[in-house]
Amino acid sequence: MSKIAWIGLGHMGVPMSRNMVEAGHTVRGYDVSETAREAARSNGVEIAESIADAVRDVDAVFTMLQSAKVVEQVVTGPDGAFVHMPRGTVVVDCSTIGIDTARSLAQTAKEHGVGFVDAPVSGGVQGAEDASLTLMLGGDIDHVAVAEPLLKSVGSYIVHVGPSGDGQAMKVVNNALMAVGMATACEVSVLAQRLGLDPQVYFNIVTRSSGDSWVFRNWFPLPDVVETSPASHGYEPGFMIDLIHKDLRLATATAAEFDVRLDTAAAAQKLFADASAAGAGERDCTGLAVTLGANVEKATVSA
Ligand code: NAD
Repeated sequence: MSKIAWIGLGHMGVPMSRNMVEAGHTVRGYDVSETAREAARSNGVEIAESIADAVRDVDAVFTMLQSAKVVEQVVTGPDGAFVHMPRGTVVVDCSTIGIDTARSLAQTAKEHGVGFVDAPVSGGVQGAEDASLTLMLGGDIDHVAVAEPLLKSVGSYIVHVGPSGDGQAMKVVNNALMAVGMATACEVSVLAQRLGLDPQVYFNIVTRSSGDSWVFRNWFPLPDVVETSPASHGYEPGFMIDLIHKDLRLATATAAEFDVRLDTAAAAQKLFADASAAGAGERDCTGLAVTLGANVEKATVSA
């Protein structure tokens, strides 16, 4: 069994680090939020006082943080993981940070005598709870060989896609598909309501018809139809509007760089940007339906 550090104990980091503990690993965690630290502590994660404290003496460092900027802060710089973790060990970053950041962090890691694997995930909080995440890995074969056996405790489909950044490349395309699907599911569900369609009948028919998708099935955006959807739990995240918006930004910026049209993703990006500007950025992404006018009067909607 291994000794690992887990930095970022949010919606995904708490269940993922808990699965690491349950697999028998010793997990030392760190998060800037006391609420997050407390949630992880109650799962058997030892809480460290700083990043330096979390990463000393470990076999590998896992990060699960909001954005490229936060991951850069946590791993680089005088107080960061690269300086304080043992030489020869590896950072496995499960966050969604984009291709260029992953490649540049892998280079910086090399200069510090450590490794960096981009290992973004798909499957949402439910997948994190069930340890059934899909993980897409980018990095050197030696570093991936350290990450892969450990990741078996949090995921069920783990693929080494290619060199550094290729895990993030796969995540960019997956999440462009997912986020456009989410935006469409929210818009069309508001229309279904306006047409007076019963939400349960609408769900039952679409999930047996050509409009079906993973997003529609798992993150159905109207309340009280899919028990595990955040829509049935006051639109509490789950996967925040600000994070799906970040993923669409990564997708449209990457497409622009490669001179590829991604107009539907750009339209979805605008819808989530508007929802965020209206104050719903920390609501679950299914909550776009509320911003678009869904009637959820029977459900409790979080701020
Ligand atoms: P989150 O905001 O719930 O968790 C991030 C955590 O990082 C928070 O607890 C925050 O306090 C902590 N943090 C911020 N700055 C820090 C710092 N400097 N040091 C230590 N901790 C710090 O986000 P999440 O939903 O868990 O998502 C994490 C990543 O996973 C994101 O990149 C997201 O895009 C990706 N992702 C999320 C989901 C999902 O369904 N939530 C699914 C797949 C991928």
